[in-house]
Amino acid sequence: MTSAGSGHAAGRDQESSRAHAVPRDAADGPPPWVAVCGTPVAVVQGSWAGRRGLGSADPCPECRRLAPD
Ligand SMILES: [Zn+2]
Repeated sequence: MTSAGSGHAAGRDQESSRAHAVPRDAADGPPPWVAVCGTPVAVVQGSWAGRRGLGSADPCPECRRLAPD
């Protein structure tokens, strides 16, 4: 799916609980996934704008700066 809309999925580093933003085009493809801040993520789960991304307890500040939604 390449429909218009917010462009990031929520990813998570397996070594911490920090959430990162993964470009939607990349998240739709196979792993490995890399967040916009350059951190490899092990899991992609839902929308960056949602509670597993910006709404989570520990969103990556760099991803937050680079991907406001
Ligand atoms: Zn990040």
